[in-house]
This record gives sequence, C-alpha cells and structure tokens, in this order.
Amino acid sequence: MKIGFIGLGNMGGPMAANLAAAGYEVTGYDPIAPFPKGVTEAKSGKDAARGQDVVITMLPDGTILRAVAGEVIPVMTKGAVLLDCSTVDVQSARDVAALATDAGLEALDAPVSGGVGGATAGTLTFMVGGSEAGFARVAPLLEVMGQKAVHCGPSGNGQAAKICNNMILGVTMIATCEAFALADKLGLDRQAMFDVVSTSSGYSWTMNAYCPAPGIGPKSPADNDYQPGFAAELMLKDLRLAQQAAEAADADTPMGEAARDLYERFVEEENGKGRDFSAMLPRFEGRGRA
Ligand code: NAD
Repeated sequence: MKIGFIGLGNMGGPMAANLAAAGYEVTGYDPIAPFPKGVTEAKSGKDAARGQDVVITMLPDGTILRAVAGEVIPVMTKGAVLLDCSTVDVQSARDVAALATDAGLEALDAPVSGGVGGATAGTLTFMVGGSEAGFARVAPLLEVMGQKAVHCGPSGNGQAAKICNNMILGVTMIATCEAFALADKLGLDRQAMFDVVSTSSGYSWTMNAYCPAPGIGPKSPADNDYQPGFAAELMLKDLRLAQQAAEAADADTPMGEAARDLYERFVEEENGKGRDFSAMLPRFEGRGRA
C-alpha cells in the first residue's frame, strides 16, 4: 500500500515515521515541519497525494483541511482512500467526505486520542467515521499507528466521538481540580483525598491516571511542573468544537459550555497557554469565591 502523508507536525511526523518503519512506502508533505526518517519528501500536497492508495492528513483545523482536500482530491486515484486524522468540526469532516465520495474516493474521519506520546509509541486510539469497507481497508495502517480503532458509524461520527469524549475529559478535570482545592481549604490531606476518591464513586481517569495534584497517584504532568502532556489550549480547541457541534445540533450542554468558558479564560487571560490542562488545580488553589 502506497501512502501520502500531509501534515508532518507534532502528531503527523511520528505517525508517518511509524508507517515508514513498518515498511510502507510513505511520501510526505509539510510546508515547515522537518521530514521524518524514512519518509520521501514531496514538494506539495498534490505531489504527495498523486498515485497513492491512501492519503492521510494530520492538520491543525477544519479550514486548512477543507483547503488541502480541495487541492488533493482532484489528483487522487479513483478508489483511493482519504483518511483524515486531524481533529476538526463535524461539519467540515462531513463536507470533505462528501466531496471525496463524489470524486469516487473512499473517505474516513479518524481523529485520535493519545497525544504526541501515543503518536510516537504507536499506541493511539482512533475513532473512525465512514464506511465499514473503508474502515477495513485502513485497519492495517491504524494497527501500526495505534493500539485501538473503533468504527463509530458514518462520516463525521469519528469527530463526534472525539469531541464528546473530550468534553467529558475537560469537565471532569475541572471537577477534580476544584474538589482538590476545596479539600485543601477543608484541611483534608491530598493523599487521603486521592486514596478515597480513586477507590470511590468520584473516581475518574483524571483522578486515577492523570492526577492533577503533584506527588499524588501515578506520574503525571503535575509532577513535571505542569509541562504538557495535553496543553490547555488543545483542550480549549476541543471544547470549542463541542460547543459548535452542540449549537448546530441544538443539544443542551451546560457543563461543556462552562468548561469551554473556564479554559478560555485560563488560556487567554490567566497564562494557561503552554501549560498542561491539569494546571487548573494551581489556578483554583488559593482562590476564593469572588
Ligand atoms: P502541529 O501544528 O504540530 O501540526 C500540524 C502540521 O500541519 C504543521 O506542521 C503544519 O505545517 C502543517 N500544515 C499546515 N497547513 C498545511 C498545508 N496546507 N499542507 C500541509 N501541511 C500543512 O499540530 P499537531 O499537534 O500535530 O496536531 C495535528 C492535529 O491533531 C490537530 O487537529 C490536533 O487537534 C490533533 N491532535 C493533537 C494532539 C496533540 O497532543 N498534539 C492530540 C490529539 C489530536
């Protein structure tokens, strides 16, 4: 299987490198990022896409995805697969898939969770929207780049799953951090708080696996001065996408909206940019109700 890979940034670079290391012929394009080992350099997105069996995109947002798709779809071989792994809004994913399908291509949206560490280790989770047949065709590639792939239904459903998951993650992280801050003020030791909550009904991934309190629970970005990890601005991006989708679908999501507003303030007004999303805990620490 010949692969074109467009967008070789923090995530795309290691993903493309893993495919090349697994023996796939990978031709890549990125206007600025360095070319990973084993990936043949193309001079444009079109050059990377022409004649490939599968074209993978890993791009910053829906606007860029639409632009790149508009450029590469016309030069792709009929029957080839366009596999977008970026996190974008549901509507862009569905529009790009329709454009690709009309041009005789197979289209899949397959956003990931697992971050740069997962991309490098080849342990990402893929949430995939598109046809069952398309999913089966790319399964061997997803196996190289990840440890799990879930087919979520038709086009756009991969993005839907991703933003619903991350809306839960953002809300839960805030709840975990504000509970630690309250515990502090009540004189409850953080280790005792962890020991109780991590084995009681308040447990969650944010408490048990990614504890925002330094020195408590398994090692996490809190133990590394809140260096990301998963940066607060990336959480904000996903919470904004969730609200955009909720508005379009007329879904009532008050907690998701509150989480979006809080991360927006944290990133844009409170020096949260570049810090891990669990740095909400030092933000809450010491604050009063005013
Ligand atoms: P990044 O900014 O490091 O990489 C994006 C790359 O796309 C850049 O290298 C940029 O030069 C390139 N690009 C921009 N316009 C292009 C064009 N027209 N043609 C070709 N390349 C172009 O971002 P990233 O961290 O690799 O994230 C990529 C996607 O993965 C985003 O949608 C992000 O939300 C998602 N994601 C990121 C993480 C994470 O932890 N970084 C985790 C899960 C999902």
